[in-house]
Amino acid sequence: MNIILLGPPGAGKGTQAQRLVERFGMKQLSTGDMLRAAVKAGTPVGLKAKAVMDAGELVSDEIVSALIGDELDAMPEGQGAIFDGYPRTAAQAASLDEILASRGKALDHVIELDVDEDALVERITGRFTCASCGKGYHDKFERPSVEGTCDKCGGHEFKRRPDDNEETVRTRMAEYRAKTAPILPIYEARGIVARVDGMADMDAVTASIEKVLQG
Ligand code: ADP
Ligand code: AMP
Repeated sequence: MNIILLGPPGAGKGTQAQRLVERFGMKQLSTGDMLRAAVKAGTPVGLKAKAVMDAGELVSDEIVSALIGDELDAMPEGQGAIFDGYPRTAAQAASLDEILASRGKALDHVIELDVDEDALVERITGRFTCASCGKGYHDKFERPSVEGTCDKCGGHEFKRRPDDNEETVRTRMAEYRAKTAPILPIYEARGIVARVDGMADMDAVTASIEKVLQG
């Protein structure tokens, strides 16, 4: 099964993707994570993307679609993909159709996380992750059970994203509204969109998504 998690920054896409990976053995394909890895490694893609990401704007469609194609090719046959943060423009949605079709794959569901924009700045400015395994946390909504220790891997180092500041978040929201939200009708016309209340607590959101996947 291949699904898209769609929603503005901070909607909970990464949180829910991590849970689906654990529950169903799917693969999370986050273009944001791929780009951050490229920035860290100092690759040509990373060098191009850094300033754009720091500003909260969108990296070019060609770059992100190439990253997605490469990741899909590296996946074992039969493993389901969770597209997290991709596609973000109509051009990317068209590329994804081609990328999937040329590999004999299809999209099963687009899960729209419906959230109240006012809550997102608080979610994003409180976000942090384990530096070793990448598990996501939040200052207020999901602290490690033992302070300073990752629940998943026992690591003690945590990090915050440089673009998770209020000013950049506003630009990222504007980009979402202008370029990403308009792609929903493409999938609505295909009858594959399920809307989930992203303001519910994390477990309730997971339960709603699982219900969609289990049909
Ligand atoms: P996205 O991947 O859509 O940008 P994240 O999954 O990283 O969003 O979530 C942003 C922050 O909000 C994280 O710190 C996460 O722990 C927290 N969060 C995610 N889902 C919920 C929820 N349903 N209720 C409260 N906080 C949440
Ligand atoms: P995210 O981790 O999804 O919040 O993405 C972080 C940043 O990476 C975004 O603000 C963009 O600059 C860039 N980015 C991630 N995914 C995409 C995409 N599909 N298209 C364009 N830019 C992206």
